[in-house]
Amino acid sequence: MDRSAIVAALSDDDPDQLKQLRCRAYEVKVRHFGRTVHLRGLIEFSNRCVKSCFYCGIRRDNSAVDRFSMTVDEIVQCALNSHRLGYGSVVLQSGERRDSDFVAFVDEAVRAVLKASGGELGVTLSCGEQSTDTYARWRAAGAKRYLLRIETSDPRLYAALHPADHSFADRVRCLWELKTIGYQVGTGVMIGLPGQTAEQLADDILFFGELDVDMIGMGPYIPHGETPLAASAVNFDKARNFQLGLKMIALTRLALGDVNIAAATALQALDPSGREKGVRFGANIIMPNVTPTVHRQRYQLYEGKPCLTDEPDACGNCLDARLRAVGERVALNEQGDSPHFVRRTEKT
Ligand code: SAM
Ligand code: SF4
Repeated sequence: MDRSAIVAALSDDDPDQLKQLRCRAYEVKVRHFGRTVHLRGLIEFSNRCVKSCFYCGIRRDNSAVDRFSMTVDEIVQCALNSHRLGYGSVVLQSGERRDSDFVAFVDEAVRAVLKASGGELGVTLSCGEQSTDTYARWRAAGAKRYLLRIETSDPRLYAALHPADHSFADRVRCLWELKTIGYQVGTGVMIGLPGQTAEQLADDILFFGELDVDMIGMGPYIPHGETPLAASAVNFDKARNFQLGLKMIALTRLALGDVNIAAATALQALDPSGREKGVRFGANIIMPNVTPTVHRQRYQLYEGKPCLTDEPDACGNCLDARLRAVGERVALNEQGDSPHFVRRTEKT
């Protein structure tokens, strides 16, 4: 898909065109993945963060947040819960820290999860920007995927969304390093940011292609009242952002083909059936939250986070029924590696 076609599709609100886009993207999803969805148990293990991104509810400068860090044992319990429910992989996600205690802690947590699951769980990390040595150390511990959203591929918009000491160039460099080290690499953006244009979103999709990533995790931007960006989001249009989120999934599927694409939780925050709709627009991954409910409410990136009090067993059953209702089934006990990664590494 070229840039002008992507811009045109993002700007077109005609229901027939939207349906056509959905059907084309779903066809490509089914060609690569069948009518199956892989699950990743999402473990939000710490909300401590040294950064202060203007959009994020757990940013360092939000003093209203009750900070927590789970223990390795707690993380292992969550991972074993995911394993028992048949989710083939877990994602360990946190705020960003680079101190040596944190680096060692993540190393230990990855090893403990792999040991407890007999190596059966795939481990994805999403812990922000780190040094090359740290990425290599966590890869050696057994983490095989890493998610680091670029947030927006437009350096000027990136600068407007972050304090001056957050660097777009560093973030891009991290993504290339993760690839070199041998991770399956995922990136993504927030969709519907204040002032963001269809052209910028089209460039985001082209950026994913240039980086040749294996996984995409992107979702609608949703304001959080205790963040600087909320003041620019007073005209936040829930329905518009939701629809843009679905269109971005479909267009990315058409542009990139065989990459894993997650239907983000933020879609569900805007529409109770958001994740299933994301699958109908071409996503093939869902990340049910398996964080203990006591911690979950302290990890609120935006307002209206869904499933704040649902226990993991209830989430699993609910999701299974919801996916069956749209003709999809959950692929149980499979890690669900990105076929794009397999092809990319076979080539090299
Ligand atoms: N700290 C790591 C990082 O920033 O890469 C990982 C955790 S961070 C909370 C995960 C993602 O949450 C970010 O990449 C960002 O896109 C998303 N996020 C933060 N605030 C958001 C908001 N208000 N609306 C939607 N997504 C948001
Ligand atoms: Fe920290 Fe990530 Fe939130 Fe930025 S997006 S403030 S790095 S948790």
